[in-house]
Amino acid sequence: TALAATALAACSSERTDASPGGGETGGEAGGLIGIAMPTRSLERWNNDGENLEALLKDMGYETSLQYADNKVDQQITQIQNMINQDPEVLVVASIDGTALGPVLDSAKAKDITVIAYDRLINDTESVDYYATFDNYQVGQLQGKFIEEELGLADGKGPFNLEPFAGSPDDNNAKFFFSGAWDVLLPYVEKGQLVVPSGKAPASNDDWTSIGVQGWESAKAQAEMDNRLNSFYAGKQVDVVLSPNDSLALGIEQALDAAGYTPGEEWPLVTGQDADLANVKNMLAGMQAMTVWKDTRTLGEQVATMVDQIVKGEEVEVNDTETYDNGVKVVPSYLLPPQVVTPDTVESSLVESGFYDASELGL
Ligand code: BGC
Repeated sequence: TALAATALAACSSERTDASPGGGETGGEAGGLIGIAMPTRSLERWNNDGENLEALLKDMGYETSLQYADNKVDQQITQIQNMINQDPEVLVVASIDGTALGPVLDSAKAKDITVIAYDRLINDTESVDYYATFDNYQVGQLQGKFIEEELGLADGKGPFNLEPFAGSPDDNNAKFFFSGAWDVLLPYVEKGQLVVPSGKAPASNDDWTSIGVQGWESAKAQAEMDNRLNSFYAGKQVDVVLSPNDSLALGIEQALDAAGYTPGEEWPLVTGQDADLANVKNMLAGMQAMTVWKDTRTLGEQVATMVDQIVKGEEVEVNDTETYDNGVKVVPSYLLPPQVVTPDTVESSLVESGFYDASELGL
């Protein structure tokens, strides 16, 4: 074990943890589980990785946790290195959902079971299960929040909207956008929502035209700066559809720089993930909501799946229709996301222990 861990560590600049088994769960628990995460630059993935690792260790497994700095080649190398250590199961949160087929084929050749974590892995047979939050539902919650807050169903408007979408290489981004756009596009068509920049996809399939590569805050900020400078002379933006918190953060910086003031004419901005910086912005009146995905529950679900796989038990899934990866429908476990607003930060995020009141200045 120590040798395997050393070999793995030598192959990667990232952290590798391996501890001997010895859990109480019985069965055949105790093998190595590889966990590939996309990047440390986003808060949620740090929480995801640490949490899953801790759960698996408690169950008696060894773990190898690797972060790939959002670089596809680095992630492929890390996965290959893990495969060389003969793990029981690989858990992969992909960077580019279409780039892992060949490396996962070599996992399949060794009978290693692969779980796609949070993001689907596309165009390959060599993925066995998918565990995620209901991604379409995330977008629906954002769209419906806007609909309700603005009174769109009562015919109110017109409001100036700027829509954004996530990274074009992330399969989730299309689900987030579709969920929101199915609610909002009819109001764009009726003229209750107006998009001064013209960046309003005519259909869900056109979402990549407004996708922000790599989910980067700085890119979202530059794009929002550009829209405000080019299309808002004598106008005010009323609402921004942001698919997640990293984009929302950049958008909020652009609004701030353009002179918008929280509590006065600050637009309604959506988000996802309940990242610490965004929750603080919510409390400061700069973000109206976030879709919270309690990553602890995803970790628990995946740890359960791992254990079921290793023990040869039936693996629990609750969706066998939605996630077609182009080659097959991947059996999935979908968890429910939930809306958090400034008013519910305390009752949801603090009372559940996701954040300490002190971290939020409460
Ligand atoms: C995740 C989101 C996250 C985004 C950027 C998506 O695949 O589902 O929670 O905000 O990636 O990392």
